[in-house]
Amino acid sequence: MAGMDSAGDKVAHVLVKRILLLNAHLLHLKMRNNIVSSRSYVIDFFHRPKYILSMKRLQAFKFELKLSAGEKRNLFRFAGSCRFVYNKALALQKERYEKGDKKLTYAGLCKELTAWLKSSPSQALQQSLKDLERAYQNFFLKRADFPRFKKRGARDSFRLPQGVKLDQANSRIFIPKLGWVRYRNSRDILGELCNVTISRSQNKWFVSIQTEREVSSPTHSSITSIGVDVGIAQFATLSDGTIFPAVNSFKSHQKKCAALQRHLSKKKKFSKNWKRIVFKISNLHSKIANIRHNYLHQTTHAISKNHALVCVEDLQIKNMSKSACGTVAIPGKKVKSKSGLNKAILDQGWYEFRRQLEYKQHWRGGIVIAVSPHYTSQTCPECNHVDALNRQTQSQFACVECGYRNNADIVGAINILRAGHARLACGETVQLGRSMNQEPTEILHALVA
Ligand SMILES: [Zn+2]
Repeated sequence: MAGMDSAGDKVAHVLVKRILLLNAHLLHLKMRNNIVSSRSYVIDFFHRPKYILSMKRLQAFKFELKLSAGEKRNLFRFAGSCRFVYNKALALQKERYEKGDKKLTYAGLCKELTAWLKSSPSQALQQSLKDLERAYQNFFLKRADFPRFKKRGARDSFRLPQGVKLDQANSRIFIPKLGWVRYRNSRDILGELCNVTISRSQNKWFVSIQTEREVSSPTHSSITSIGVDVGIAQFATLSDGTIFPAVNSFKSHQKKCAALQRHLSKKKKFSKNWKRIVFKISNLHSKIANIRHNYLHQTTHAISKNHALVCVEDLQIKNMSKSACGTVAIPGKKVKSKSGLNKAILDQGWYEFRRQLEYKQHWRGGIVIAVSPHYTSQTCPECNHVDALNRQTQSQFACVECGYRNNADIVGAINILRAGHARLACGETVQLGRSMNQEPTEILHALVA
């Protein structure tokens, strides 16, 4: 650990151990009593015998389906029906909303539904009504914009809450109204089946099986802590000097993408050649997404495997990548350079990085602490002098007070680690995220084309 003295290291180890025990204990209490009371339990804990801690884990297992042409057509139809129901219900609600009528409840919509469609799995259709219901709630609670109509061909998917049967030994799954279909069985599915989502990406259909199971709370095999600084030039720099370079999957494919776009503009719309190029472009996009996905998993796996405590900067990525153009009333500044930065930020997938780190740490029994990013790039790790002048170039850190020099990203990571330790030392309990037991569905940022 560059820049950390061994005494500080020891204190950190003790703290990490303590907070991990405390954390596991709190989690257990939370599950048992649904109350979390923080500090008084700390002392209590050390005088008690060991518990066998356990927690519920929700996990999704995703496989590609092996389908015949007829089965593919059926899935297209099911997804289309779900979209149809969603859009029709939304149109109905919108009409009532504009007339000043009261919104129909979910049960009310279900009654209407029976008259609409019969040949698709009714469970799946009801699930799309539930999705609409949630979209409405999010709108009324000011968490989201007004629900929008679903477009054909974009994000084809539907969810089945029941009626699905699984035959792992023969790698097949029973889907209502479709029958038994085979899937690429790459791993065992653990736990009890909750629900199943069928989705399409390019020409392939996937099944994602959500399960629930009891697991004992793990204790992290390592007791070290690490600070992580994310950036544009390097994807992530660790406080021990490890560097994960940026893949920039999007940037390297940008030229190819632009060339294809140019080709496309010369073709007649909806012609055979036009369709061929559209397919090529979307293939390229999914390739980019796969590269990034893979890289993120590798990076977060390496970090979470080796360190019990991971400190990261609490970056507000949403604000950072806000539209650079601004509005008509308040036009944005430095539009061009900012939009380039936005592209770079979205390309890195920091949000996904943090999400993966959090759930992977949680599953291993480690923790993630997010610290305020203020002055992490300007503080000297040797003498604590804070000065903007400490960082004269983007990549080099040189303290104006004591002359300490190091790579700027490593200095950032060391400062993040220290801020994390400080938070632990203050006795602040670490927040257990809303759904840390779960591996939430991936949020893929729309590619900036
Ligand atoms: Zn200094």
